[in-house]
Amino acid sequence: MSAPALAPGPAATPRATVGFEALMERVREIAGQCDRCGSCLPVCPLFAKTGRETATARGKVSLIRGLLEGGVTPTRDLFARLDFCLQCRACTNACPSKVRTGELVSLTKGYLAPATGRPGLSRAIDGFLAQPGLVRLAGPLVRSYARSAIRPVIEKSVLKPLLPSVARMEGLLPGRRPARSDGANHRGGGAGGPSDGGRPPKRGRLKYFAGCMVRLTYPEVMKATIKTLRDAGYEVTVVDESCCGLPHWSHGDLDRARKMAAANLDRLAGPEIVVTDCASCGSALVDYREWLAGDPEHEAAAKELAGRVKDVSVVLAALEPSPQADAQQTNAAQAAPDHPVKVTYHDPCHLCRGQGVRAEPRQVLRDAGYDFIEMKGADICCGGSGTFSVEHYADSMAVLEEKTKNILATGADAVVTSCPSCLMQLEHGLKRYGGDRKVRVIHLTEAVHEARRAGARPAGAGTGVAKPAQ
Ligand code: SF4
Ligand code: SF4
Repeated sequence: MSAPALAPGPAATPRATVGFEALMERVREIAGQCDRCGSCLPVCPLFAKTGRETATARGKVSLIRGLLEGGVTPTRDLFARLDFCLQCRACTNACPSKVRTGELVSLTKGYLAPATGRPGLSRAIDGFLAQPGLVRLAGPLVRSYARSAIRPVIEKSVLKPLLPSVARMEGLLPGRRPARSDGANHRGGGAGGPSDGGRPPKRGRLKYFAGCMVRLTYPEVMKATIKTLRDAGYEVTVVDESCCGLPHWSHGDLDRARKMAAANLDRLAGPEIVVTDCASCGSALVDYREWLAGDPEHEAAAKELAGRVKDVSVVLAALEPSPQADAQQTNAAQAAPDHPVKVTYHDPCHLCRGQGVRAEPRQVLRDAGYDFIEMKGADICCGGSGTFSVEHYADSMAVLEEKTKNILATGADAVVTSCPSCLMQLEHGLKRYGGDRKVRVIHLTEAVHEARRAGARPAGAGTGVAKPAQ
């Protein structure tokens, strides 16, 4: 299987940032690209909610220029102002000079951190995620707690009064989700093979990078992704990865992010396509070429990896749709009364702007037979962005409320997305702002898997022909 051509983004020419001089040169270079035109203001979700200039790319560039020129001092307050960002890349997208605000902010935080320190919550989360063994161990515990009957009691009696920020984090954990991904409670295919008993065409080998969030909070998504890809004829190896390092990079813990990237490069070496179902992990893997630019030991491998990373929607969209897609939907709706028929899609920022993937998830949903309804502002950030929703809960909720209204306005039975962080945030939004409406929040591979499992053969099995790579 040949490596795909990824849409060239603004990161196509990575610049070295390893070492203090290179980092400062890059910060100066990016900050110098801004001509203060203000095109980034109307697209910034945080500016729309707060009206604060420092929430925007232009405001952040001004602060950083002040830092470089000596008018602004390196303080915790400056760090906090730069930290007030969803890293959604809407500003870069709208900017005539393509100023890379996310990279600029991460690098500047990396420069500031030794002097100002980093927020305690970020440090705690980064420390935890840097230990893959601990993440594996914590997964079942977090999930058992999230679905347990004592959760509301603990939340109200201990966390809210004593540990408010932990309570906010706890409140975002997903609740009980229907355990459907193994196919056990549906007619048709079981976990071992395609649902019509036929053999899927052989398509090649993939390495699946699940990432911490999927492992910790959404193992159903992991199962659905593996099953969907195997049903389509792929041989799937699950990578024993460490965290992709994006939280560390975003928080300005640059050295640790680079170490984690280097460790993952070794695990992902080989000719196989690397498939992800987490938009944030996917964009981080592609961005390793930036993180490691100037590192003689890893630079070449990071560039090579960027050409092999594909979101699962891109892999699935390259398959021919099942000719039985409509029948699958009818069967699925009969098999499970809450099986969605009408769906809408939320674009994760790290997929639509981070990797240039917009059309494929929509095509996959239509190919699976869903009645697809586009929502207003589908590619506007949901306000989650890792620890942002915990550290800036009120601002995060203001962004989320608007997103939830847009979802509800479609009349869809389910909102589908491609990132565990968005799944968690959208579930919270529908719980908080959804009223009596029951709208499911599901990952793209769960949607595909549910549709296929209703007794029809897997997508693409009929033709054995893959569409040309897109
Ligand atoms: S759109 Fe770009 S150039 Fe214009 S003010 Fe914003 S960051 Fe600066
Ligand atoms: S990345 Fe998003 S939140 Fe941050 S400044 Fe740009 S538009 Fe605003």
